[in-house]
Amino acid sequence: MNKEFHSFGWYASKVSPHLPKKAFNRVPGRLLGGLAYLLITIAGMLAIGLYDLPFLANIAISFVIGASFAAMGFLGHEILHGTVVKGAGLRNFLGAVFFFPLLTGPLLWRKWHNVTHHVHTQHEEKDPDTWLSKEDLDKKPALKLIYRLPFSVRASLEFFALCFTFTLHSTKIFFAYIKEFQPEKRRAVWFQFLLPWVSWIGLIFFVGITNWLFIFLIPHLIANAIVMGYISTNHRLNPLVPVNDPLANTLSVTVPRWVDVLHFNFSYHTEHHIFPSMSSKYYPLVKEHIKDNWPTRYHEMPMSSALKALWKTPRVYYNGKDLIDPQAGLAYGSLGNGLNPEAIKPRPMNGSGSREGIKQA
Ligand SMILES: [Zn+2]
Ligand SMILES: [Zn+2]
Repeated sequence: MNKEFHSFGWYASKVSPHLPKKAFNRVPGRLLGGLAYLLITIAGMLAIGLYDLPFLANIAISFVIGASFAAMGFLGHEILHGTVVKGAGLRNFLGAVFFFPLLTGPLLWRKWHNVTHHVHTQHEEKDPDTWLSKEDLDKKPALKLIYRLPFSVRASLEFFALCFTFTLHSTKIFFAYIKEFQPEKRRAVWFQFLLPWVSWIGLIFFVGITNWLFIFLIPHLIANAIVMGYISTNHRLNPLVPVNDPLANTLSVTVPRWVDVLHFNFSYHTEHHIFPSMSSKYYPLVKEHIKDNWPTRYHEMPMSSALKALWKTPRVYYNGKDLIDPQAGLAYGSLGNGLNPEAIKPRPMNGSGSREGIKQA
């Protein structure tokens, strides 16, 4: 059964020979985009802080700052994968700068994302970003109560939570991982965690609470929603598989070209899992090769379809392959296992539904 799965290294070895050499170079030019976002953010904050603008103008500027915060997070992600600048010190410093609005430090991020999420993607126990399984749920009676709520209420709550899930999850990860750092590193990890929190909260005393809502809180919630819009579609419609196979456990979404420009090609998530150390600038090339070689195994859909599918499917894994609604006793499959995002049809969990991987056409 495992024969159908391959590790990300296997795909990388098949695709690499067909890529130009420059695709493996760092792309420091990415920092120009980051600089633009920094300038826009600072200008927006000054405008809110210094002028008595009408409410709607403040809200509009908050949206621009929030969108910039999110884009800076995507750049921080790239920087901390080492694809932008050389040298650990500079990489960590710039990573800290661009993750500052999302309240996440570079040492924690690298351990959480690079070392754990990328290595153990969609592993039931080892991937800190994967969704829970029925066995996990059975152990958590408080969570089970949430699953008793009607489906539409649960879906609404899940989407509403996207406005703060990144921050909540990253704080949870900090407290879960801090003990695992060597004692001499712990102080730096604490510092990188506290500095953004203290700075952003301290800003209240300089700008007043009302301005602070527009300068930080609203943008922070918007940034959470944007990054989670991607993160929630990256893997949550895919199955848990026994081998970390990016074609099976990852989804690439498509967005208009200008959005890809603004978001540093963050939509190319399958490509990113095959080549995490490659600049996302070259992911469109990687995509071409993947689609040539494994057209039926590659999962790709517009961001809007992915979000719709997310809305219509429950979030508990069963047997790795099925997303189930334990309360209603319904199974929805997962990408590559019978889930058709265009026509989502659940089947009874204990009924005739086959658990053999039904390949999507
Ligand atoms: Zn991922
Ligand atoms: Zn990554």
